[in-house]
Amino acid sequence: MIAPAAVQQIQTIIQPGKKFILTTHVNADGDGIGSEIALTHYLRELGKEAHIVNHSPTPENLDFLDSRGDIQLFDHNKHGELVREADAVFILDISDWERLRDLGKLLRQISVTKICIDHHPLEGRFGEVDVILTEASSTGEIIYELLTKLGARLHGKQIDALYTAILTDTGSFRFSNTNPGAHQVCADLIARGVKPHHIYQEIYEKQPASKMRLLGQILSNLNFSKDRRLVWFSITQQMMKATGTQPRDTEGFADFPRSIDGVELCLMFLETEQGKTKISFRSKGKVVINGLANRFGGGGHPYASGALVEGNFQQLVQQVVSEAKELFG
Ligand code: 5GP
Ligand code: MN
Repeated sequence: MIAPAAVQQIQTIIQPGKKFILTTHVNADGDGIGSEIALTHYLRELGKEAHIVNHSPTPENLDFLDSRGDIQLFDHNKHGELVREADAVFILDISDWERLRDLGKLLRQISVTKICIDHHPLEGRFGEVDVILTEASSTGEIIYELLTKLGARLHGKQIDALYTAILTDTGSFRFSNTNPGAHQVCADLIARGVKPHHIYQEIYEKQPASKMRLLGQILSNLNFSKDRRLVWFSITQQMMKATGTQPRDTEGFADFPRSIDGVELCLMFLETEQGKTKISFRSKGKVVINGLANRFGGGGHPYASGALVEGNFQQLVQQVVSEAKELFG
């Protein structure tokens, strides 16, 4: 539950304010974008200016939430002044400066009020107001509680956005973060008019064929440890070129191999254009993996983490796989 003092603090910031910025982590996902859209609609209804400024483009399957084209890509020249002048910046679904990239750098330099709303573990403080609820399924669940307590009339795109946030972050109510709150909030959102089959079709049934071709290649070339508890795969630049895909098309791929019987842990290695490797760690629940992600400069949830690492791709795969095997003792 959000502390009443935090709701009060946020209200005190919003009420007199005119201009607000909202942002989320690099490689924005359904939870980050859904949370931004829901909060933006609330602020606009109060007559405030609200600007969503993200580091990464919105994945195509989430475009339906941004029918007004509110989401902009961060550009220092274009948005620097806007951010400096804002009454507050809402930082959603992230409490790690590094994952805010250039906007994070700017925000650390200036004295604008930062309100962080997140469900990732955080040590110490982040913004002027931190609402960090690691027990929440998603940031969307926290935004729902906040908006309800602020007296928002939840409707229209807002309810679709919040439902999308919870649906996507819980892997359609399959992952270990699925809790009573996730279901209770979604039950209420459905009662208010969300059509689950409509949202499902938008998110999961409009995928480009190229993505399926890449997934096909990956699934036919999985690597297994001897005991088959660990599975891993690589996505190289060459594979993406050959299939006409982009990094954002790989969203959700790390979850697929979990469905194999006996697999406990899945690692996905994605070669980026900048010569770095994006690693996704997914556990079925017997091994905690954010410690391993931490060792490679990343972090995240106990059973779903990530890291962005520099260095030779093949060597890194070997090193991470060998350290992951040690987790099984
Ligand atoms: P994904 O593998 O889907 O990108 O990320 C899974 C989870 O891992 C995210 O929800 C986030 O908590 C965390 N995560 C992903 N990438 C990074 C990273 O580079 N640094 C940190 N600290 N956490 C990450
Ligand atoms: Mn999230």
